[in-house]
Formats: sequence, structure tokens, C-alpha cells
Amino acid sequence: MSEELRQAAKEYLVRYGGDSFPNLFRTAKGTVVTDSDGREYLDFTSGQMCATIGHNHPAIVEAVNRAGQKAFHFFSGMIPEVVVELARTLAQDWLPGDLERTIFINTGSEATEVALRMAKMYTDGYEVLVLGGSWHGITGGASAVSMASDRKGYGVPPPGVFVIPEPNAYRPYVAGMNEEEAALANLDIALKMFDMQSAGRGAAILVEPVISAGGVLVPPPAFMRALRKAADDRGMLLIFDEAQTAFGRIGTRTGAEYFDVVPDIMTMSKTLGGGLPLAAVATTAAIEEVLHDKHFTFYTSHVSDPLGAEVGLAVLKVIAEEQLVARSRQMGAYLRGRLEELQQRHEVIGDVRGLGLLLGVELVRDRASRLPAHKLGALTTAKCFEKGLSMNIRRRPERGSVWRIAPPLTVSTDEIDRAVDILDKSLRDSLA
Ligand code: PMP
Repeated sequence: MSEELRQAAKEYLVRYGGDSFPNLFRTAKGTVVTDSDGREYLDFTSGQMCATIGHNHPAIVEAVNRAGQKAFHFFSGMIPEVVVELARTLAQDWLPGDLERTIFINTGSEATEVALRMAKMYTDGYEVLVLGGSWHGITGGASAVSMASDRKGYGVPPPGVFVIPEPNAYRPYVAGMNEEEAALANLDIALKMFDMQSAGRGAAILVEPVISAGGVLVPPPAFMRALRKAADDRGMLLIFDEAQTAFGRIGTRTGAEYFDVVPDIMTMSKTLGGGLPLAAVATTAAIEEVLHDKHFTFYTSHVSDPLGAEVGLAVLKVIAEEQLVARSRQMGAYLRGRLEELQQRHEVIGDVRGLGLLLGVELVRDRASRLPAHKLGALTTAKCFEKGLSMNIRRRPERGSVWRIAPPLTVSTDEIDRAVDILDKSLRDSLA
């Protein structure tokens, strides 16, 4: 059966890049995904960083059934009751500062498009400052503000995108400075360049609170505060892309909460739907009033769908009831400790970093040179998979080879121990 379907996959599917696995998959539950031969894998990527409350949590299954009893979908102009309930829950319990009005769509890429539209319309500008190595989505506007490597071959991106070097404590770009000094010095230069090049039409500064796909980099808090000031000084809006960082992944409710910096616009996606497509963009009442006066639109087939909202409400309830934000801190500390033990045994582990249960392990040829160990990373990731552990390695030629380790927040210490054991054995096999 699985061999026949594997052949059919070759015949009938468009290949879409990224890391693809040799097997086909059938079921997922909690931290475990199962392939079509019945082999189980510990999922230390939470699917595509979405399954933060564990795969197929009963509360999500119930929410889907509940939507089935009520409605999956309406005409886009009909606001479902459950959408209002979710927006209110977000504003009252989760969103930072005075962010309180939210629109619901389906994916993180769409959320980036919404945020950019909001900022451009609000400011009458179009210029956007972003961090190098960031990922904000695959659609036209979103890929224009994301890392260049993933939009090669698709024409020229819109003008007006300016890049700030991303803070990187392990590779700080500026010799002789500490992490914070280097981050602020780079920002200072980037802003000076922007001010010289700008047509005076600044719209937004857009950042991930933790630069995840770019190698799990946590900026120094002073850098995030400086971004807030840079946006204010220029009449631009500050946008946080919290696709991954919102709702407990990093051990706080949001990245904004961790850094104690309130953006003007916040996007949420992966972690809100818990594995189903749901995304949201929140802003302040004051900004929303202006946008509405200017006839802001983002009208799609699935804007405000009740199915997603029913699921989003259930996900937030589980995170609150199971105290997963605190659990992310506890389990994150445990996992980090275990990874640091591995680092002591393996010279090739150059750095262990991250927040909560969003951790990065950087592989190097040796600690002195810090040269990226790309082949070792690819080989060891494949060996982990053979031994029953699904891991994601971020390989960027100029940015090193980094495992992003992010199991569901419901992960147990036993599962962590098993995963670290597999990682250890796989590294030893690869190095032998
Ligand atoms: N922003 C961030 C920070 C992301 O990690 C991603 C997905 N990798 C996106 C946006 C895009 O989300 P989606 O793939 O759901 O369109």
C-alpha cells in the first residue's frame, strides 16, 4: 500500500521544495507522528511549528465537530458569533498593550499581507525595514520582505525594502563588540542608510521577535526597544510577526510581552490554529478607525470563517487550562539543560540558544573557526529520522547550520530524554 502510494506521489504531486521526507504519513497524536508503515516519530518540529498543544488534541477535534454542528463557512460579509468571541478573548487575555481589534484569515503569509496593507494605508507610505534572514511568508508581498534565497526566480520584488542586519550573538558581524553593542551599531548604520535612501515614505518596521527560520536568534531587549523608537521617530508602524512566538512557544504569552515592547500591529498564525489554518492580525482601535475611514479592505473567501475561530478559541482555552505558557518555560529549561550536556560532549555543537521551547542548536566544524557544518547537519538529521525523531535543520550558506528544536508544549520529560538520546547517538554515528 505505502509503496504503491509512494509511486503515485511521484506521478501526481507537484514538488514544492523544502525538506521532504522519503515516507508518507498517516496519523499524528500528541508529540508523535506515524508514517504509512506504522513507524512512529517524535515530532520535535510541532509539524510546521503549529501543533503547540500537541497533534489532534481532543479539544481541537471537539471544536471541529462543534463547527460541523453550527457552520464551517459563511458569506465573507457575515460575521459569525464565534469570531467575535475569539477577538474578545484575544484582546482581553492575550494581546499586549492597547492592541484590541483583530481580523482573522488563514495563513501567516496572508497575515503579513494584511499587516503591510495596514501600515502602508495608515502611513500613506510603502517603505519597509526588515531584519536580514527573516521569514514572513511566501506570497508576493510577504516574500518581498523575507530572506532573498526563497524568492529567487520569481521576478523583481517591489521597491522600498530595507534590510537591518539581524542580531546574532554567536556571529555578531562586528568584531570586538558584545552582542548588544553590535546589534545597536548595526541598527544605527542601517537606519542612517535608510534615512539617506528613503523617499520619505516609510511605512513599517517588520520583525519576528525571535528570528526563527534565520537560525533561532534572540535579539537583545535594547535592540527591540530601539526599533520601537526608530519607528516612532519616523512616523512608521512597528509590526511584530508572532507566527511562532505568540501563545506560549517562548515561555511568555507573546514576544511583545517577553521584550516589554508593544508593536502597533501584531500578526499571529501557526500557533493560533494548533495545526488548522488560522491567522490573525491585531492593531489598536485608533489605527483601525483611521484604516476604516480610508476604506481598508482584506476581503477573502475565508476571512472570518467560523471553523477557524472555533478552533482558535479551543486552542487558547487549552493553553490557559493546561498552563502551557509556564510549561514551555519549565520544559524549555529542561530540554536546554539536556542539550547543553550534549554540547559538552560534542565539539561540533557550537551554540545552544533560544527561549522557552523554541531552541536552536548550531553545528560547527570546530568551535574555534565556527565554520558551519552543513553536511554533518544534513546527515545527522537524516539519521535522527531513521531512529524515530523528526527534526528541522535550518541551513543557510552565510548563516550556519542550526537545528530548530520545538516540540509541542505538552511534551514530557520522557519524550525529551528519548529525543536527546537519539540526537546524541545520531551525532556519534555521523562523526564515526
Ligand atoms: N511568519 C513567520 C515568522 C513564519 O515562520 C511563517 C511560516 N514559516 C510565516 C510568517 C508564513 O506563514 P504561512 O506559512 O502560514 O503562510
